[in-house]
Amino acid sequence: MARKKIRSATTLAIREAIPVRAGDGALAPNERKLNFGDRWSYAPAPEQSDYIRVRPRYQLFIDGKFRAPHSGRYFDSINPANETKLAEIAQADAHDVDLAVRAARRAHRKVWSGLPGRERGKFLYRIARLLQEKAGELAVLESMDGGKTIRESRDIDLPLVAAHFFYYAGWADKLPYAFPGRVPCSLGVAAQIIPWNFPLLMAAWKLAPALAAGNTCVLKPAETTSITALHLAEILQEAELPEGVVNIVTGAGDTGQALVEHDDVDKIAFTGSTAVGKLLTRAVAGTRKKLTLELGGKAANIIFEDAPIDQAVEGIISGIYFNQGHVCCAGSRLLVQEGVFPAVIRKLRDRISTLRVGDPLDKNTDIGAINSRMQLDKICELVESGLQQGAELVQPRMRLPEKGYWYPPSFFTGVTASHRIAQEEIFGPVLSVMTFRTPEEAIERANNTPYGLSAGVWTDKGSKIFKVVSKLRAGVVWANTYNKFDPTSPFGGYRESGFGREGGLHGLLPYLSLS
Ligand code: NDP
Repeated sequence: MARKKIRSATTLAIREAIPVRAGDGALAPNERKLNFGDRWSYAPAPEQSDYIRVRPRYQLFIDGKFRAPHSGRYFDSINPANETKLAEIAQADAHDVDLAVRAARRAHRKVWSGLPGRERGKFLYRIARLLQEKAGELAVLESMDGGKTIRESRDIDLPLVAAHFFYYAGWADKLPYAFPGRVPCSLGVAAQIIPWNFPLLMAAWKLAPALAAGNTCVLKPAETTSITALHLAEILQEAELPEGVVNIVTGAGDTGQALVEHDDVDKIAFTGSTAVGKLLTRAVAGTRKKLTLELGGKAANIIFEDAPIDQAVEGIISGIYFNQGHVCCAGSRLLVQEGVFPAVIRKLRDRISTLRVGDPLDKNTDIGAINSRMQLDKICELVESGLQQGAELVQPRMRLPEKGYWYPPSFFTGVTASHRIAQEEIFGPVLSVMTFRTPEEAIERANNTPYGLSAGVWTDKGSKIFKVVSKLRAGVVWANTYNKFDPTSPFGGYRESGFGREGGLHGLLPYLSLS
């Protein structure tokens, strides 16, 4: 009942872009306004998907084999773009989790921990090459299962997935050089719990460094996006990775909880919400289990008056609308210096009206489907709170597909620091815009959040970049760009965004003990 109310309220809230006040957004003499109008429509350009083999049912991957769940229960995986059932996924219970952890322990003791680093590296290289070979198919599956656009899964997710395996393959036989004067030793069994926003990429972020460091793994994908992890399991079989080195248990939060609470787990790596991250912290307190958390964020993307405004607007777009805004480091709080506020707002309003929302498998789509009904409801509820608290919503007028879960690219003006939309992670294509006058005020506003994952700075002054960046409390700061990822570069946060780093040399540390 409550859900229905929220959705209809937000549908009503879809309105034309707010009018720009007289004089505010007037074009500068040397500025041109692009007219995208109806003349710029695109013909459909769907990625071929008829060759994709989605199995009717996916089993658990334990000890190198696919096996039915102990409970005999399965849940549906839905295509969020059309609400049709894609497949049934096995629901692992505590018994299955126990089998997976035992298999991982055996594999660690008998095979993996004793294997020379160069041999472990060979397996990782083989996995990376197989991922590259199957990248097209995996990208389509990722888009079908999670709703992300094919452009992003094909050009960003999959290349990064392979790059992570390649990168950590290179470290496998060089651990003593990575930590000179220390003796690195694997921890044992790593329990890895991942979210739905970058399913295969998060699996790669977790598995590649753990395996390179000599650990064995039990991976728990998110309930809504398990399919590509199970195709990865087939790749692991093809690469002849020894049995039990990687195990994949699918299921909901209960499965993750059983994994975290298992006595024989040495390390837990989690990416997801801050709320679950706190539960995990409590669960491991007083145990020997090591923990790293990569949680949410509410990143400030700061635009100074001297920034190249057109590039900055593109940075704002990729900062918040990339992957439907389902990005923990999304630039979801835009801080604009007052002098350029009208121009930035006008350009942003024009630009979002050119974004194409729709079929994730169409190569021209900019914004795909929201991952689940639950996430759509959460976005709608937060947008509603923004309206209730007096912020002004800007949304382009667009027709959304009838079936599926969709949300148009949107931004709020008139936001104050106390609004929920300025404090809480919306995790959708909704931006909160605020202004500032001085660099000091920008820094203060940017740091006024319980999170500390990422930030962006746009200015043409290098010295200003260094000055501002040194005062921002964020694990990753991009300057004159946004949402750029590389396996060699560490990623992680402070405060409620978690602790520990993934990527780069730093990403090996949580999986090693150094003596
Ligand atoms: P969760 O934190 O619930 O999910 C992340 C992973 O943890 C999933 O695999 C989930 O399983 C699992 N999980 C859930 N409960 C437990 C538990 N008690 N013990 C162990 N594992 C558990 O995120 P949601 O999917 O519920 O998303 C909610 C919000 O979290 C989003 O709106 C967004 O704001 C934020 N989020 C942040 C992410 C980030 O990258 N920082 C990623 C995803 C979400 P399952 O999903 O199968 O239930």
